[in-house]
Amino acid sequence: MKNFKNIEHIVFGRGSFNTLDKILNPHRNNNDEFIFFVVDNYFKGKELENKIPSEKKDVIRFIDVDPYEPTTEQVDQLRDEVLKNYGLPAAIVGIGGGSIMDIAKAVALMFTNEGSSVLYQGLDLIKNPGVFHIGVPTISGTGAEVSMTAVLTGPEKKLGLKCDWTIFNQVILDPDLIATVPHDKWFYTGMDTYIHCIESENGIFNNALSHAYAEQSLKLCRNIYFGDGQTPENDDKLMIASMMGGLSLTYSEVGVCHALSYGLSKVFGTKHCFANCVIFQHLDDFYSEGVSEFKQMLNKQNIKLPVGLSKEWSDDQINTMSEIAYKLSHMWRHAFGEDWQKRLSIDKLKELYKRM
Ligand code: NAD
Ligand code: ZN
Repeated sequence: MKNFKNIEHIVFGRGSFNTLDKILNPHRNNNDEFIFFVVDNYFKGKELENKIPSEKKDVIRFIDVDPYEPTTEQVDQLRDEVLKNYGLPAAIVGIGGGSIMDIAKAVALMFTNEGSSVLYQGLDLIKNPGVFHIGVPTISGTGAEVSMTAVLTGPEKKLGLKCDWTIFNQVILDPDLIATVPHDKWFYTGMDTYIHCIESENGIFNNALSHAYAEQSLKLCRNIYFGDGQTPENDDKLMIASMMGGLSLTYSEVGVCHALSYGLSKVFGTKHCFANCVIFQHLDDFYSEGVSEFKQMLNKQNIKLPVGLSKEWSDDQINTMSEIAYKLSHMWRHAFGEDWQKRLSIDKLKELYKRM
């Protein structure tokens, strides 16, 4: 059992971004009375920039989230710079994809917790509640908008700041915002949801609560990726599928693909959703039905994934990835059971990486 915390407020619907101003108003006089907006650089100069309800004292930072995932160093610098020049924000608003969701969640915590975010990578290490924070996703699939973790890559590990206070106080789900996502990124990120559900369902922590969310989320994914693809109606569905996939894994666990994906991202900086897709196609012996369906969706959406990548990898790199993945014992326990160590060796992990 997990006593899990959910988001305090969710608003869903086309145009719901316009309610942000009203949502922020009761918070504006807190702390040093300014709002800190963290926005994906993609939106610089786009229509959405003009719709951000910023006032004179507010601070906006556009962040380039490509090609690497958010780091502890990046979060520390952002916090230090804002604290030094403007003080403690009344609220933080993250507008972007999983990367921005994680940066917003992490910075919100780091404003009120001393030292580097490296100190807090792990479960329940955060000492003080963070600043009020709002998530506005603009690409759907990671479930970062609902999860209790802010995943950061640090000098030693890729691991989240994970605690109840990480969870957003408010989320705004406006399907209009995901309309401009390019087809390939739309596919990879959406498939993160699909893989969350397949993994959540296939393991010992699966239960009626996680199953109910996964079942609904999978139904929506099938509808979208076997159906008309990227349409306004499907954007509505994908936003909800992402949220439900995230809730499913919160109450269950992810598995083989995510464990391997962490190794790949740590060693090569490969983005999470793309890494998952590259790996998942080779996991038929663990998730045969899921992988077969995934391949049909790849075909239907005309997406080509790279293969033969491991030919370029050194033994050292494969060893490092295998060691990183092996340490994710909670995922292996879920996927293989309590005696997972009898069923999985580092050599097996190396063999899996060599399939890619
Ligand atoms: P992202 O935030 O990295 O963005 C992917 C790309 O899409 C970027 O190029 C971005 O500029 C672009 N983009 C975003 N919105 C757009 C829009 N509306 N129109 C056009 N382009 C747009 O993508 P992601 O896949 O959502 O997030 C990946 C990150 O999420 C990784 O760092 C991963 O570690 C993290 N993650 C976190 C959790 C969690 O629970 N906290 C779960 C899974 C993944
Ligand atoms: Zn994922």
